[in-house]
Amino acid sequence: MKLANTPVTQHTFNGYPFYLKRDDLLHPEFSGNKARKFMALLEADYPNITTLIGYGSPQANSLYSLSALAKLKGWKLEFYVSHIPEWLKQNPLGNYQAALELGATVIDINQLGSKLPPHDYIETIRMPNEQYLFEECLVIPEGGRSPIAEVGIKQLAQEIRQWAQEQETAELTVALPSGTGTTALYLNKHLAPYNINVLTCACVGGEEYLIKQFKSLGEQSHPTVLSSPERRKHQFGKLYSADYQMWQSLTQQTNVEFDLLYDPYMWQCLTHHFNQSREHNPNQTLLYIHQGGLLGNASMEKRYQRKLD
Ligand SMILES: *Cc1c(COP(=O)(O)O)cnc(C)c1O
Repeated sequence: MKLANTPVTQHTFNGYPFYLKRDDLLHPEFSGNKARKFMALLEADYPNITTLIGYGSPQANSLYSLSALAKLKGWKLEFYVSHIPEWLKQNPLGNYQAALELGATVIDINQLGSKLPPHDYIETIRMPNEQYLFEECLVIPEGGRSPIAEVGIKQLAQEIRQWAQEQETAELTVALPSGTGTTALYLNKHLAPYNINVLTCACVGGEEYLIKQFKSLGEQSHPTVLSSPERRKHQFGKLYSADYQMWQSLTQQTNVEFDLLYDPYMWQCLTHHFNQSREHNPNQTLLYIHQGGLLGNASMEKRYQRKLD
């Protein structure tokens, strides 16, 4: 199975024209950032694997994407989390609900009486592949922070280069927000040699954490990290009314639903960046990567409405 060649649409935001790479439209279930990162797993043959093992937050985009991947491959998914909030258990929604519907088993480690972090629990108690002759389990690092992600992101870079050639753009800048930074790093690796700039921002743990992540993946060349003067440090999952307003304006002006967890901060950083650099660089073309994640909006929006009421 090959999923590729998502469309590019054209928009204007606050007077800035930009193009949007629609990875949210990759596949109805397997789309966006995590689909690109897990693409190598979809495409390769794993004759002995029966079970995919993941871990992270019960609201993570990767929970849903791994469930979709497991279903496409005919595998089981076990997803380990430290804790499932009571409200979510009572009323499943978003990524968690969709993952359950796809047949995922979400395991609440706290409820099993263990205080171990999910990764340690998998290594020391679940111990996949201990008792088998062949490895039956594939364990995926949190958020897809792994060199296996490079194959799918390289494919995305190739699509961007082909599009840029067709458009005959003089100077192309690609922008996307970062969590682990894996996507921005590998995009930069495969675009910088063609003089395409990659801009990103740190949505998790600040700029130092992001640069540490880049280094841990072993690449020398890094994308440019932007920040916003109003908010140098953006706490992951925290509610900011400026983020919510930005998200609403984006939807109103583009008629496209953006992700509520990462995209608003990237647009704050971009707005600041363009206000500063516009006069110097009138020929810049901006291509923004829509990395999906829309299922997660349901729970985020609920939290914002509760906060703003
Ligand atoms: C995971 C994710 C990101 C962050 O990707 P990284 O490669 O971890 O930087 C951004 N946007 C969405 C919608 C995601 O699901």
